Amino acid sequence: SSKGLGGNSVQIIENPMNEKAYTQFSMQSDFKKAIKRKEFLLHYQPKINIQSGDVTGVEALVRWQHPERGLIHPGEFMQLAEESGFISVLGAWVLREALSQMKDWRKRGYQLHLRMAVNVSVRQFIQQDIVLLVKELLKEMDLPPHCLELEITESVLMRHEHLIQDSVEKLRGIGVEVSIDDFGTGYASFTYLKKFNANTIKIDRSFIHSLPHSQDDVAIVSAVIALAKELNMRVIAEGVETQDQLEFLVRKGCNEVQGFYFSPPLPLLELEGYLNNRKDIRTR
Ligand code: C2E
Ligand code: MG
Ligand code: MG
Ligand code: MG
Repeated sequence: SSKGLGGNSVQIIENPMNEKAYTQFSMQSDFKKAIKRKEFLLHYQPKINIQSGDVTGVEALVRWQHPERGLIHPGEFMQLAEESGFISVLGAWVLREALSQMKDWRKRGYQLHLRMAVNVSVRQFIQQDIVLLVKELLKEMDLPPHCLELEITESVLMRHEHLIQDSVEKLRGIGVEVSIDDFGTGYASFTYLKKFNANTIKIDRSFIHSLPHSQDDVAIVSAVIALAKELNMRVIAEGVETQDQLEFLVRKGCNEVQGFYFSPPLPLLELEGYLNNRKDIRTR
């Protein structure tokens, strides 16, 4: 009845969508168009071997060139992408884009030793067959599995641990590298280390930030590096911004580092410029 409708509209006015909810709502409807319009792109951040100073690989980090909002970072849309299920579409796009970049470098005989790291959230394992997707893409592009690394981040409670454990086994089985991202935060913890046979631990940047001044972080980071060694895993520190942080990590025997101290994530051409210049410096 009209009376009922009136009641409803009063309710809507009393509970207007707040700005954040509105932004989320409109973003969600933009997602589908964005893929078609090629609004997503990847930036690449180098990873550096702490002993040799060589770039060992790059991490692909997705960005959204939004027609009205400008360049948006994943912090602003990743959670929504996960909750709305769009992450499986976006994640498949990221994998394909990152691997075709790899393919292009190899065709040019360029930086053949580099590994491409791609972020995947636990939710992606639940929503789609990542292992199959990875296998198909590697085959299609004729790429060796060891040139791909998946960085797994935890964002939902681990109700599907068997599925993920099984997927990690299969990925390692075909030769893909697996790392545990943001180690020490959220749900990524010792449970992960025991259950998932990953290659690498990536220490979250929140533990790196106050090194070497914070005694707590000194203790935590030292312990994680020692633990990785005992477990025969590689260990990488993210968010390295200062010489002091780097020196601390060198002393503790961390394997690799990544952060603004070396380079922020870069658009493709700038990344290639960075790689070329480093090569020049080394051969001089
Ligand atoms: P992450 O994988 O832990 O990536 C590291 C984040 O720290 C990146 O933010 C990077 O730009 C930033 N960062 C790197 N070095 C430094 C530093 O020295 N100092 C500081 N303060 N920050 C640094 P970004 O690119 O905004 O990505 C945020 C997160 O979004 C990523 O964290 C990752 O979990 C997620 N993400 C990014 N791309 C993808 C993707 O393609 N798929 C999925 N599932 N998640 C993604
Ligand atoms: Mg990562
Ligand atoms: Mg991380
Ligand atoms: Mg992170």
